[in-house]
Amino acid sequence: MSIKTKTNLRIAIMGAGAMGSVLGALLHRSGAQVWLVDGWQEHVNVMNDKGLTLTGEIKDTVKLNATTDASSVGIVDLVIFQGKSNQLPNQAKVAQVMVDENTLLLALQNGIGHAETLSAVYPAAQIMFGFCEYGADLLGPGQVSPHLGKAIIAFQPASGVFTEAHQRIVQALSDAGFTANLSLDVEKETWEKLVMNGCFNASCALTRLKAGHFYEQQEAKALVADMLDEIIAVAAAKEIMLDAKMLTEKLSFVVQVAGDHHPSLAQDVMNKRMTEILSINGAIVHEGDRLNVPVPVNRTITRLVSILHATYEKQF
Ligand code: NAD
Repeated sequence: MSIKTKTNLRIAIMGAGAMGSVLGALLHRSGAQVWLVDGWQEHVNVMNDKGLTLTGEIKDTVKLNATTDASSVGIVDLVIFQGKSNQLPNQAKVAQVMVDENTLLLALQNGIGHAETLSAVYPAAQIMFGFCEYGADLLGPGQVSPHLGKAIIAFQPASGVFTEAHQRIVQALSDAGFTANLSLDVEKETWEKLVMNGCFNASCALTRLKAGHFYEQQEAKALVADMLDEIIAVAAAKEIMLDAKMLTEKLSFVVQVAGDHHPSLAQDVMNKRMTEILSINGAIVHEGDRLNVPVPVNRTITRLVSILHATYEKQF
């Protein structure tokens, strides 16, 4: 017997990649009404014909609603944006057909600046942003493998005002098996996560190294220290006080536990895809320029990855 959520929320997930598919499956299993909205037709077809198959930590096949057409969904209580951050500006517009004045919108991609992206389309009172601490691999159309780990989803309202509607989302995520943290500390935690992605992802893509091999180089440690200094200075200008010692220790810890993997941005470069550079190092540059904080290292990294994007077909 499935456990029915007390909230019975109608939830659309924009972006049914690895993370969105797992989130959708777990919310569906807990009784929420879920629609996965994604442009990958073959993936959507398999989910509709055979269901979404989870392998590994959870073995199940779930029959949920999947579509490439947001207008077929109707108005929902919650839209979760869980694709890549470079998809967000377009997804924000596409999702409008599912949104009325009571719908809440939650951006969970890596990086920063997502609430600002959504605010070009929606009122601040409806916007939330945050991050996930779980992982997933998309194995093929209709097949996903979750790595739940701590299974945390942390988020905060962009307005800073909590309502009962936010609590219902906490309940729905908890029913689905996540630890849901609703708190005004999330912005600072998002910046701490940005340090990890900002210091390793693009650098590993540019050097073609796993984080472990990258960080054993003295020059890599010096590069990371420079990037970290810039991020801390930009955050401080926003009155977000980051702890340099703690973050330096965390960078070493991350290398210990995840150093044998290619960061997602490096995987995107391997697959000749767009990356999330503009919401990671590029977002640091954007904020640094806005606040008059020099960010030369992050700017150079952003420019180099932008050149990579533009020239895949010309590279050796
Ligand atoms: P993803 O690459 O799996 O999916 C992103 C988009 O690409 C989706 O729309 C998906 O349908 C499409 N796509 C993927 N493979 C495709 C293919 N073969 N053909 C056509 N389209 C394809 O993205 P993700 O890993 O779910 O990441 C979503 C967000 O979560 C990002 O911000 C990411 O940085 C973050 N994140 C991911 C992980 C993880 O373990 N995957 C962990 C933490 C945070």
